[in-house]
Amino acid sequence: MIYVLYSGDYEVFMGGNYLPESKVLLEPTDLALDVFESIKVPVTLFADLLCLWRYRELGFGEFPDQVDDQLRDVVRRGHDVQMHIHPHWPKTDIERCEDGSTHYQFDNIWTHPGPHFSNLYEFMLENLQSGKEYLNNLLADEAPDYRCVAYRAGGYGFTNGTMEILAALEDAGYLIDSSVVPGYPGIDVPVRQVDMRNVPTQGNYLLSRKWGLSRPADDGVFEIPVAAGAVEGIAALVRAKIKAVGRRIVKRPLPHTNIGYTSNEKMIRSQPVATASLASRVKRAITRTLSLSQWNMLDIKEDAQAIFDITQSYVRRYQNESPDLFFSVSFHPKEFVAERREALRKYHGMLKRYYGDNIRAITFRQAAELISPQLKKSDE
Ligand SMILES: [Zn+2]
Repeated sequence: MIYVLYSGDYEVFMGGNYLPESKVLLEPTDLALDVFESIKVPVTLFADLLCLWRYRELGFGEFPDQVDDQLRDVVRRGHDVQMHIHPHWPKTDIERCEDGSTHYQFDNIWTHPGPHFSNLYEFMLENLQSGKEYLNNLLADEAPDYRCVAYRAGGYGFTNGTMEILAALEDAGYLIDSSVVPGYPGIDVPVRQVDMRNVPTQGNYLLSRKWGLSRPADDGVFEIPVAAGAVEGIAALVRAKIKAVGRRIVKRPLPHTNIGYTSNEKMIRSQPVATASLASRVKRAITRTLSLSQWNMLDIKEDAQAIFDITQSYVRRYQNESPDLFFSVSFHPKEFVAERREALRKYHGMLKRYYGDNIRAITFRQAAELISPQLKKSDE
């Protein structure tokens, strides 16, 4: 069976929001849930809890209270909520303005581990444990089978300090990780280094503190990656190329431009601008466009066909490895505008037409039930 796990990183903008949090996160999440329900599939939200705890700590309880209500509703409606950590929150100041906008003040935004973490293992263990307790307490009454079992690293920041993060996940009793995006070509700004070009080339595998991402382990946490890859096949490649050129020419504004700003944008702007010559920029644009691989991850943007093409290549590559293949498709509620919701509807329709009864959409805690026998076997 092919299992697709739709997942949303449930969080505000890391730099700041131009609108109140309810408009940035809660309303789009409700709209997203409506679409998922209209196509009869469940979704898992990875909730950025450290943000909420920081709000409470600074005396801004309203937003976290609204989130608690929404997360209860999410689980009551048959969806799932799991753990997501952006580790800069405990040291972030929150400035709230009269008009409901917010600005987040931090010296540096960092993903795991960053220079700030000499004690990454302890930091992760403490927060993973607290997060699990928090969600289990919050959501137990909404669904009898609710349990916090899965984790996704904020910003996919999983490639530095992988051993510590995995050790903490294992010790806190998490069963599933969903932080790997195979082939992620690397973000190399000092505060955010992600590089997933050398992860195990399997559909699913166990990861442990022993080997990190260098090879699958005999026990540890079960990895359900956000599927990604290069488009294969001439037709799909040509389609992707034409669209890529189009995007470079048209340069449409990002859908969230009026709602909030990400830390990355802020960081990139505050870095000295690289003064590449026009000639070298043109050369790079041409090389990129002509290069045979059109790598992308399964992140629901406007183009349903593009993510379907990648899904097909991905599934073909890993389908015969074991009877079951689990992969995740991600989105961000805060940027999930109407065109993207429509793309989700189309994409899921394509999956159903192509794979028929061989594909099923499930939540992360349903996946945990399915893989439990496998995990137990590896214990013996
Ligand atoms: Zn995130």
